[in-house]
Amino acid sequence: MNEPSPAAQHRLTEDPNIGRVLLTEQQLAERIQELGAQITEEYQDRRPLMVCVLRGAYAFTTDLAFAIDLPVEIDFIAVSSYGSSTRTSGVVRLVKDLDVDLTGRDVILVEDIVDTGLTLRYLRRSLEVRGPASLEVCTLLAREAADLEGLGVKYVGFTIPGDFVVGYGLDVGEKYRNLRYLAVYEPDEVSTP
Ligand code: 5GP
Repeated sequence: MNEPSPAAQHRLTEDPNIGRVLLTEQQLAERIQELGAQITEEYQDRRPLMVCVLRGAYAFTTDLAFAIDLPVEIDFIAVSSYGSSTRTSGVVRLVKDLDVDLTGRDVILVEDIVDTGLTLRYLRRSLEVRGPASLEVCTLLAREAADLEGLGVKYVGFTIPGDFVVGYGLDVGEKYRNLRYLAVYEPDEVSTP
């Protein structure tokens, strides 16, 4: 057998650090349609403001917005808690604030994944004081161990176990965001903590 060419080795889908597929494109699409339908029902006659938490939630926000049959508005906030590693630094930092005034708005905070809940707690505190009419959270993923009720998460795409995942917006060191599905990240060489 011939060795794969360097060009083929550079393909994202051939990356050796991408492990088991956790959620396929189809599973993601189907669940997001359901969430969109639910939000359409629950926000009828309102004009929700979707707050996308950059960068991880960009893909989910786009597809979720397409699945909502209401005139939504979209704004972006960026926080950083992980840097480029797969471990939390324990510190959440606001990197980019919203442009839109939240006063009286029906806000849906759109997250990629709720892990420890640290990021979400920080974001909630930061948004609640701005006087929105309502504030709900919609996350694509949540760890099985996450206290979703305590964190006030209303909409959850999927609950997943503890594996570190990549794809569909989620990265490691800015890589893998444009993978169309969600996979477990399984690095060849495991760096020591
Ligand atoms: P938390 O503050 O809830 O512990 O972590 C939330 C943030 O950590 C997410 O928004 C995401 O950026 C990052 N994160 C947590 N788990 C994963 C994971 O499995 N994969 C990736 N790529 N990021 C994760």
